[in-house]
This record gives sequence, C-alpha cells and structure tokens, in this order.
Amino acid sequence: MKKYAIGIDVGGTKVAAGLMDQAGELLATYKTTAHSEREPGYVIEAIEQSCQALLDQSGIAKEEVQGIGLGFAGTVNGPAGVVLISSNLPAWNHMPLRDTLAKSLGMPVVMENDANVAALAELRYGAGQGVKNMCYVCFSTGYGMGIVINGQIYSGHTGTAGELSHVVVDVHGPDCTCGKKGCLMAYASGIGISRAIYERIERGEDTLLKQDATPDRRRIKGEAVLKAVQAGDRLAGEVLHTAGYYFGLGLSIVVQIINPELIVIGGGLTKMGDALMQPVMQGYRETVQPELQDSVKFKPCALCDQVGVVGAASLVFVEENK
Ligand SMILES: [Zn+2]
Repeated sequence: MKKYAIGIDVGGTKVAAGLMDQAGELLATYKTTAHSEREPGYVIEAIEQSCQALLDQSGIAKEEVQGIGLGFAGTVNGPAGVVLISSNLPAWNHMPLRDTLAKSLGMPVVMENDANVAALAELRYGAGQGVKNMCYVCFSTGYGMGIVINGQIYSGHTGTAGELSHVVVDVHGPDCTCGKKGCLMAYASGIGISRAIYERIERGEDTLLKQDATPDRRRIKGEAVLKAVQAGDRLAGEVLHTAGYYFGLGLSIVVQIINPELIVIGGGLTKMGDALMQPVMQGYRETVQPELQDSVKFKPCALCDQVGVVGAASLVFVEENK
C-alpha cells in the first residue's frame, strides 16, 4: 500500500481537503468556498483544484498517493458511489459522483456520507479509539449520525443507515428541507434554528436577532444566536433550548435502538458550549428509558474541524485493508 491518501470533505458551503499519512497526520490542507451551493460541475472543479493544491504544497507525487476519499453532506449510497439526494446542495439527485471523479482525476475514489466519515475519523484517531460500538452525532447546518458496529462503519442495505436527521418526531411539525414535516432536523440544526427565529419574528415577536434577519430569509448563524442568548434575549434562548432539547431526544433514540458504548458529539454548533449542551442533556434524560440512561458515555469530538478531511482520507486506508 502507498503511504498517503487524500481526504475531501464536501459540505454545503465549502470543499475542505487534506493529504494524510497512515498515522493520521495531515501534511497539507486546502479549503475553497468557490463552489458554494452550485451545480455539480463547479464542485468537481473545486475538488480537482484542491487535489492539485495539496500535491503542490506537500511536494508529494501523485504516484505516492493511494487514492482519494470523499465525504459528502447528503444521503449517499457509498458502496455504489452515488449521491441520492442532498438537502444542502440542490441538483445532485442520483449523481454518480465517485466514478465521475475517478475518471477526471485518474485515481481510485471511495465515498461515504459526511457523518459516516466523521465517525470513522473519531474511531481511528480521535475520541473513539479503542471503542468497538459507537456513534458520531453532528449538530451543525444539518443533523447527522455515523454508526460504528464492531469497529466498522455500518452503512445499511442501501447506504443510508444513521439518517437520524429525517426521523419524524411530530407529524404536524414544521416543514423540513426533505419535504416532510416534523423531522428532528427541522428543530435540531442550524437550518431549524434559523427557521424558528424567522417564524417568531414574522409573528411580531421582539428579539435582538431582527437585525440579522433578511427579507429573503438568509440563514441566521449560530454565532449571532449565541450572542443574543448571552445578552439575555428571551426569544433566542427559547429557540436554542428547543433545538437542544430535540437534539437530546435524537440521542435518546440512538441509545434506545443502537445501545452504543460511546456517543461522540461534534459539529460547528456544539461550540456554543453549555448554552446548548444543558438543554441537550435535559432532552436526553427526559426522553430515554430510565434504565438505559447511564448505559452510554458522551464525549465531545477530538478532531472536530478536521474530522471530515481525516475521516475521508481514512476511507482510503480502510478500503485497502478489506
Ligand atoms: Zn426531513
């Protein structure tokens, strides 16, 4: 096996990339936001550009790289290399991304959804080292989960296992980006928080967050919400509490169904700290079966901002060892 792998993390607003060795060390990193929420063609271009930048930066020859691992923010059939749908990146339905990229880059490509990739990163190099059964749950723009069973990613029959975000918890609940109502993600995600704030402003409620609202409902960022909470803004506090509570409800579903030893919690919004984690743990405790409450350990992510890139590169080494 060759010594290096490239990991690419394709999110709703960025492509992040890294060149990694087998010890999990990143030798070069690169990030671009040029493609942001555009057509597949732009994203493929951004990926090609990222790979070239990593090789130039590190001075490592393409021939020394085993392959490219790709984590994608959306519902992905990893084994088939196809994007099924992405609520953050429109125009991707049934796109054969893996094979398209392998052809244009002239290298082997493996692909998984971003939450599975993150779970793999934490398992191999982060908070889950030495653990056999764990889940990684992510609270950011969306809400995702990766499942590890007996030391391996569990993708399910068509690659969609762990799609916690679109579990319906209230059939009369708010609209979700997937077209259904009342999914966990409609509450417990950056998208859900922003939607709730706009709805309450439109109902005439007062909040400091009015200054962040736009007529086209551009998403209100987590930093702004946290600032308002810290300034004592009631509406911001209530919305964040609801989001956290539903995130905790999601964790209780995970514990009830998977019975993992460990749940690693990551994602950009977890940087809010206690303002978020207090309602998360309240939601968890109030909804999980009391006998199971202490069956699991919770840990914050260890790799955090690097989880997507490290996990994607790990896919290459894992695939090779199969
Ligand atoms: Zn949904």
